[in-house]
Amino acid sequence: MGRRCEIDGTYIADDNGHGGSAQRVCSTRCRVEACRRRKAIPDEMKALRRWTRADGKRPIRPDGSPASSTNPATWSAFDEVANTGEGDGYGIMLGDGLACYDLDHILDGHGRVKPRHPGRLILERLEREGCMFAEISASGEGLHLFVRSDAPSWKHDGVEFYSHGRFIRMTGIRWNPKRRRNAHR
Ligand SMILES: [Zn+2]
Repeated sequence: MGRRCEIDGTYIADDNGHGGSAQRVCSTRCRVEACRRRKAIPDEMKALRRWTRADGKRPIRPDGSPASSTNPATWSAFDEVANTGEGDGYGIMLGDGLACYDLDHILDGHGRVKPRHPGRLILERLEREGCMFAEISASGEGLHLFVRSDAPSWKHDGVEFYSHGRFIRMTGIRWNPKRRRNAHR
């Protein structure tokens, strides 16, 4: 048994069954990286009580029971999920003015934007106008662009926009168009 480091996936040996205090990272280096990623998320988002732990892409409460995108009673404050609780990560529930463009497979294996991906125009517009937060998704190939919006959700041609009833697992790996690769490992 054992769990995997939330940063690089290294197996971590069992910590003698200390349940809730189980280690989430394998090394000091990964601990520093996890802290850096938490800090990258803007305070405007951290202030929202819309956070849950994540088990893969599934939202769960810190105790491991399911969290629902339609039941705010199952959501938590950022500090309650950022480095504690069940599962292997954390994320946020969209809605109430918080929305996100989910651009799957927009990055190639080198972290560069694919020239023909239909999300490219949205990405370029938001890079000009600025968005709340842009991060590389857990696959390393997608981007999450968080914005303030109440516009209805839509999906078209490889671009998904969600404004309600949707969970986004977050990485905190800030997307920086000028330093494409180095933010991700
Ligand atoms: Zn690690």
